[in-house]
Amino acid sequence: MGSVGSQKLSELEVFLNKHPHITYATPSSPNYASLREIFSLDCKSNPPIIVRPQKAEDVGLLVQYAKSQGIKFAVRTGGHSLFGLSTIDGAMTIDMRDITYVHIEQGKKLAKVGGGTLQGDLATALHKEGLATPTGSVPSVGYVGWAAYGGYGPLSAQFGLGADQIVAAKIVDPSGKIVEADDKLLRGIRGAGGIFGIIVEITVKVYPLNKILAGNLIFASQDISEAFKKFNGGYRELSTQGLPSQLVIQQMVVNSPYGRAFGLAFTWGSDDIDTGRMWLSKIEGLGTVVMNTVAETTIPEMLAATQAVIPLKAYCSSRSLNVRKITEVADAIASCLEKMPSDLAAMFTIHELRGPSAKPTKDSVFGTRDPHFMLEILGGALKEESREASAAWAQSTWETIGKTDRGGQNILPGTYISVEPPGESPGQIPLSKIYGSHESDVVALKREYDSENVFDLAMPRLVDYIRS
Ligand SMILES: Cc1cc2nc3c(=O)[nH]c(=O)nc-3n(C[C@H](O)[C@H](O)[C@H](O)COP(=O)(O)OP(=O)(O)OC[C@H]3O[C@@H](n4cnc5c(N)ncnc54)[C@H](O)[C@@H]3O)c2cc1C
Repeated sequence: MGSVGSQKLSELEVFLNKHPHITYATPSSPNYASLREIFSLDCKSNPPIIVRPQKAEDVGLLVQYAKSQGIKFAVRTGGHSLFGLSTIDGAMTIDMRDITYVHIEQGKKLAKVGGGTLQGDLATALHKEGLATPTGSVPSVGYVGWAAYGGYGPLSAQFGLGADQIVAAKIVDPSGKIVEADDKLLRGIRGAGGIFGIIVEITVKVYPLNKILAGNLIFASQDISEAFKKFNGGYRELSTQGLPSQLVIQQMVVNSPYGRAFGLAFTWGSDDIDTGRMWLSKIEGLGTVVMNTVAETTIPEMLAATQAVIPLKAYCSSRSLNVRKITEVADAIASCLEKMPSDLAAMFTIHELRGPSAKPTKDSVFGTRDPHFMLEILGGALKEESREASAAWAQSTWETIGKTDRGGQNILPGTYISVEPPGESPGQIPLSKIYGSHESDVVALKREYDSENVFDLAMPRLVDYIRS
């Protein structure tokens, strides 16, 4: 597959004009800049064309055409790849955002979700029917891109990761055909997402859930190191007594207009609000709370509240580590938090994998199933001039925490594909770090379902693996 040069672009436009319902924009189109917008400001690429299929069959036509003409393409939904993977110079972007729908099946146990649906739209559609499914906490993230590569979120201790919700998928395969994934392929899609084909629809589990208790707690942070360590000591003790699956906290250190603050996003994912309040008071007791926005709410409202406080785009150099116990790395983390740059996009957050998400399963290729905390070290910056300092902080934090694990017991070998940078060349993060013991299965599935590597630009890039 090659770049879309001017000759290929003209021919592609002729082809698209025969299918006028597939809209498109090129850099000279008035809507190109808004369609090209993605989260990553680091990504400066300008695809020669952004095409907007309206239905699965259009995606099939586009893949067939691209393959026959040797045109490279990347897939975009929410545009929230931290590495700008949807937007590549010389490659057509297939923008899935018009394939957005949620069809709840009879019995209200499953929903079919269009491949271009955003998390917020999914949550809103389900909420209207008194239902919910795990999503991440930012509504503008694409649902498939979140779920099919893992998907940590505020309901995952109760219901499992995003990948664990997927019970069926329709993909456009390398020949451009729409196929229903068989069990073997489904297993690969649950963790390796779009490397076998473009996912035009997934069917996911949904659960009755109307109200939740959710919001943010901010702790007194004059001594951020102490606040972080004290909280984690207490949280560890609470955890050893047993935490209910409805409770998920995401710890975070953020910069606010008032300075750097340690806090957490609290989610009690159940209508039993009274029990949730009891757990809230236990969590509040682990520090000195200076701000508390936790209230009875709904999932769509919780997602909207998160969107309101995080940047829509940023420079972001992220690193990630999976650790078994925070308490064993708390000193190292605390020393790095002291040095976190003051840019509003610099952040340190912790997702926890426990409950059903943390049980070994043969049904997915997601790599790290041991109970763990996934550290997101987000060297973010709103301004280009702060970018280098934030990136250097993320790297040195990652190294400092990494060095604590002399016995190799606390830091797990695996990493999270959506946060750990893919590297300059394909396969730079060893595949074993992403898929652990499933590595060879992922490669075998790729060879079986996309032997010609038509979906070369999907993450993770396997070109070096399928050659051998
Ligand atoms: C602000 C922010 C918050 C986040 N929060 C969380 C979180 O809470 N939990 C978590 O686990 N992760 C989180 N992430 C990571 C996020 O889930 C991944 O980056 C995800 O892949 C983004 O999907 P997207 O569609 O928005 O991005 P895009 O950049 O549009 O797509 C990312 C990749 O997904 C693939 N893809 C997207 N749609 C399809 C499709 N229909 N078929 C095949 N492949 C497809 C493509 O290969 C593409 O390169 C967050 C990222 C950001 C920037």
